[in-house]
Amino acid sequence: MTRDEYGEFWGTSTIADEFHAVALAHPDRDAVVTAQGRRTYAELDAETDRIAVGLAELGLHPGDPVIIQVTNRLETVVAWYALLKAGLVPVATLAAHRGHEIAHISRAVGARAHLVEAGTKGIDLVAFAHEQALDHPTMRHVLVLGDLPAADIDPDEARKRVEEIQRGIDPDAVAVFQLSGGTTGVPKLIPRQHAEYWYNARAYGDVLGWTADDRVGHLIPVIHNAGVVCGVHGPHTRGACLVLTDHDLDTAMPLLVAERTTSVLFGHVHYRAPEHPLYDRLAETLRVAVLSGAKVSEDLFTTTGRGGAWVGQLFGMAEGMFLVTPQDGSPELRRTTVGVPISPADEVRLVEPGTENEVPDGEVGELCCRGPYTLRGYFGVDRPEAFTSDGFYRTGDLAAVRLLDGYRAISIEGRIKDLINRGGEKINAEEVELLLLSHPHVVEAALVAMPDPRLGERGCAYLATDGTDVTLDDLRAHLTRLDVAKFKWPERVELVEALPRTKVGKLDKKVMTADITARLSGENP
Ligand code: AMP
Repeated sequence: MTRDEYGEFWGTSTIADEFHAVALAHPDRDAVVTAQGRRTYAELDAETDRIAVGLAELGLHPGDPVIIQVTNRLETVVAWYALLKAGLVPVATLAAHRGHEIAHISRAVGARAHLVEAGTKGIDLVAFAHEQALDHPTMRHVLVLGDLPAADIDPDEARKRVEEIQRGIDPDAVAVFQLSGGTTGVPKLIPRQHAEYWYNARAYGDVLGWTADDRVGHLIPVIHNAGVVCGVHGPHTRGACLVLTDHDLDTAMPLLVAERTTSVLFGHVHYRAPEHPLYDRLAETLRVAVLSGAKVSEDLFTTTGRGGAWVGQLFGMAEGMFLVTPQDGSPELRRTTVGVPISPADEVRLVEPGTENEVPDGEVGELCCRGPYTLRGYFGVDRPEAFTSDGFYRTGDLAAVRLLDGYRAISIEGRIKDLINRGGEKINAEEVELLLLSHPHVVEAALVAMPDPRLGERGCAYLATDGTDVTLDDLRAHLTRLDVAKFKWPERVELVEALPRTKVGKLDKKVMTADITARLSGENP
C-alpha cells in the first residue's frame, strides 16, 4: 500500500517519533505497568533514548533487522521502543521458536542481532542465540533483555542523537516484520511500515473509545501482532497505559485488578477469565472487554460483561485487516459477527475460493481485504496467489456478510487455509507434515486439528508407516532432533494403513477431522 492511496489516514512520522510526541504530551502518566515494575511516559522515553544510542554505538545501523525472542515483561516494552528509536527493525518471532524456525527466518531477513530473554523456562535462550549466530552470514550481536547497552550521556544529547537517526528514516519504510500464520511451508514475513502500523493501532483504539485515561490489560504474547497493535501501540497512540501480564490468569488477575484496568483483550485461552475468583473485582473498573480468536457464546458475553463493561469481538491478523464489533452494535450483531472494519478505507470482499467471483450477501466466501494497513505483498517472496488481481489479500478464512443494524457485518464461518489454531498460535499443517515425512518409518503424514476445550484446537497426526509402530514419543524425539518449536508438535497419533484421499487423490482432511472428533467425543462423552 502506498501514501498516494492512503496518505490521508497515515501520519508523517516514524513510530519512534510518534511515541516521543505522545510522551511529551503525557509525561507523568503511566506508559506501562508490569509485575517487574512500571514506567511513566517520560521515564520510558528517556530510558529508550539512551538505549537506542547504546545500540547505535554497538555498530547497529538503521534498517538492521533484529530477531526478538522474549516474553511479556517490562523490559520487553523498553527494548521495543529502544530498537525502533535506533532505527532497527524488530522481527517478531516467538520465545517458543527453535532452530528450525529461527535459522530460516533470521537468514531470510538478514538479521544483524538477536534479542533474547535470559532465564526462560525450559531453554537457555542466550546460549541458543549464540549457537544460532555460528556460521550465520549476517548475525553480529546477541542482545539480552534487561541488559541492553545504555549510553552514559546527558538525556538531551541522547534525544538529539535519536532525532538524527529518525530524520534519516522514511515513515513509509518497513518498521517491523511480523510472521504470517501462513498456508504453505515455512512462515512468511510480513513487512509493516511505520505510518500504516501506527495508524492500525490508532484506529483500533478509536473504535474502542480509548482515551489517555484508559488502562489496557494485555495477557497474550506482546510481540505478536495483536500484542503490538492492541497492547503496546494502541494505548500509546493516546497516552493510555499498558498493563502487561503473563498469560497465567492467577498471576495476571491480581495485577489487572490492582491497576484498575479499564479495557482488556481476552484471547481464546482466556475465555475462562470470568470464572476467576478475582473477576468481579476486575469487572468494577472494566469498561471495554474484547474477545478474540474463536466463536463466542452468549453466555460468555453475559459473564464477561456482568459488571457493566461493553463486550465486543475482534478478528485480526498480522497481515493487517482488523474487524471489530461497532460500539452501537445490537446483541445479535455482537454475538453472531466479528463486526466491521476499523477504518473507513478498509474494503472487504467475499469471493468463491480460488476465483475472483464475489458471493452474494449472506453466502459464505473467502474473506479478501484491502486497505490502509493491509499488506500488498510478503517480504522477499512473490506470492501472487495470495492476492486478487486488484490487490485484495486472500485471508484463507471463510466468512459471510450479515446485514444488521445498517452495518455490513462479517461472520466467520471457517477457513480454507490448512493450519491449526492452537490457543492463538498458528501451526502450519504442511510445514509439520514435511517434518513428519522425514521420519524414517513414516510413509504418509497428515496433521489435522482436533478440538480442545482450552486451546480451541490441537494437532493430531495421521500416519501411514512402513509397518513399524511410530509413537508420539518417537515423533517427539524426531522433532527434538530437528529443533522444531514445541507448540507445533502433534499431541496425538493415529496410525492407519493408508491416509484417506479424495477422488482426485488429495489428502481428505475432512474425513480425518471427523474421525478424530468422533473418537474424542467417544473417549470423553
Ligand atoms: P494472526 O496473524 O496470527 O493474528 O492470525 C490471524 C488468523 O487468526 C486469521 O486469519 C483467522 O484465521 C484467525 N482469527 C483471528 N481472529 C479470529 C476470530 N475472532 N475468530 C476466528 N478466527 C480468528
